[in-house]
Amino acid sequence: MIIQVSELQDEGLDLSGVHQFASPYADPSWRLDEVRLHLERDGVDVVVNGDIAATVPQTCGRCLEAFPASVRAVVDLRLAPRPTSHSNVELAADDLDVDFYADDQLDLNGLIETETTLALPMKPLCRDECRGLCPVCGGNRNSERCSCDARPVDPRLAVLKDWAGRSRD
Ligand SMILES: [Zn+2]
Ligand SMILES: [Zn+2]
Repeated sequence: MIIQVSELQDEGLDLSGVHQFASPYADPSWRLDEVRLHLERDGVDVVVNGDIAATVPQTCGRCLEAFPASVRAVVDLRLAPRPTSHSNVELAADDLDVDFYADDQLDLNGLIETETTLALPMKPLCRDECRGLCPVCGGNRNSERCSCDARPVDPRLAVLKDWAGRSRD
């Protein structure tokens, strides 16, 4: 969805509901579940607030299974007109959440895609208590019980063992 910035009214614009955004994601396996955005002009800038909920396929970092991750993004953005190559615009350090729009147009699909991408988990886990793969046989310990002895050695015991081995010499 493209918004013409000059057509934004003083009271701002509220957009909610996924039906407003047919397919904001380039990847068809990404699904927009919920979206609520409020746009308001501030001088030549546009301030965008709201939240986005989406389901994005991810690979679990422990068991390596694909799973649909629920992603929630809180949107708090300021969009300024893109500076021309000749003008000098210096952004203050606290203006990191400033993005740009060009030609009076604000591409909300692009905004939704960017914000969703930024909200993706750094270390996706299919579930908090995912038991991961057995380091010995590689089996998925969520679904199969192997009989491997994969108990990690208690580091305190390892020190003792080391000490015992040395004192025997
Ligand atoms: Zn997992
Ligand atoms: Zn095993």
